[in-house]
Amino acid sequence: MTGFRTRAIHAGQEFDPTTGAVIPPIYQTSTFVQDGIGGLRGGYEYNRSANPTRTSLQTLLASLEGGRHAYSFASGLAAEDTLLRALLRPGDHVVLGNDVYGGTHRLLDRVLGAWGVEITAVELTDLGAVRAAVRPGSTKVLWVETPSNPLMKITDIAALAELGHDAGLTVVVDNTFASPALQRPLDLGADVVVHSTTKYIGGHSDVLGGALVMDDDALAEKVGFLQFAVGAVSAPMDAWLTVRGIKTLPVRMAQHSANAQAIAEHLVGHPAVERVYYPGLEQHPGHDIAARQMSGFGGMMSLALTGGPQAARRLAEGTELFQLAESLGGVESLIGYPDAMTHASVRGTALAVPENVVRLSVGLEDVTDLVADLDEALARL
Ligand SMILES: *Cc1c(COP(=O)(O)O)cnc(C)c1O
Repeated sequence: MTGFRTRAIHAGQEFDPTTGAVIPPIYQTSTFVQDGIGGLRGGYEYNRSANPTRTSLQTLLASLEGGRHAYSFASGLAAEDTLLRALLRPGDHVVLGNDVYGGTHRLLDRVLGAWGVEITAVELTDLGAVRAAVRPGSTKVLWVETPSNPLMKITDIAALAELGHDAGLTVVVDNTFASPALQRPLDLGADVVVHSTTKYIGGHSDVLGGALVMDDDALAEKVGFLQFAVGAVSAPMDAWLTVRGIKTLPVRMAQHSANAQAIAEHLVGHPAVERVYYPGLEQHPGHDIAARQMSGFGGMMSLALTGGPQAARRLAEGTELFQLAESLGGVESLIGYPDAMTHASVRGTALAVPENVVRLSVGLEDVTDLVADLDEALARL
């Protein structure tokens, strides 16, 4: 099983030996009968420690990211919290991107900050700035997100992994926007991959989840212990839905990328659009790196509008097919206004998103319908 598309369908998905059911069942149970005290069947004891449906998802995720260990969680932020608690102690310092996902910043700044963790947000595309932000002895983690949210900045994972390892840091990549179908950070030298599986991996806007994938056995043991000891695990039904979504991940990502590319090319030069942020455009400053480290440019893009904040708000409220909502990565197209939605928690800080920006999650509808929807809404501004 070497091909990515084959693994997306089969890794960890053996048919049910009792009935022959092609699809492994949802083990909707909180506990497992023991054959005498400590006589566990397949190692299963209690749902917080392990459940076969979660195991099947974790095996699948490890296979897709090319890592030895995967853990799935109730949300992306639960996964991040578990990882950061495994890696950090009071007084430790984290270097992260200056347009990191708002929730990641909030978790580090407002939750872990109270436990003595410090952060510095830098421009990750500037390797000198990253190097300068590292505090020898106390910096433990370099947190990378590429493409970033919402300005679609691209950072060179291999270069940052090398820089981070030279400084003795654990290099974490939030791979939510690309998914393993388009980008595999562990192959590029990263230590840990983080996902909000709520987004492209689940892919159908019907389940919340998160995941961590890593090679390092010692770190995996710490993460596994915390997952069990804290308990933010994926529920069986959620794990099953996520597996169901993953089977079509490669085909979905190819079509998300094709639709987004067509929309980006259509909107470049539109009089109402000041700038299109999409790494598939040759003029995007990260295009060459993206072309090297990704196998497609994905379905996310942002638009800066010439009409300023008011035009951005009106566009976000003015489309029909692109529905106004938080989140991304589903089969249906969504539009958001980061300043007041996904990035409201960083408003007024150095991490704030320009107020004339809207973010698009380009879905799998007919691209002609999506273009028409945007054109009509832009004409009404
Ligand atoms: C949504 C998101 C998260 C957080 O995941 P949840 O599943 O919402 O907890 C983290 N990183 C990125 C890039 C995201 O888009």
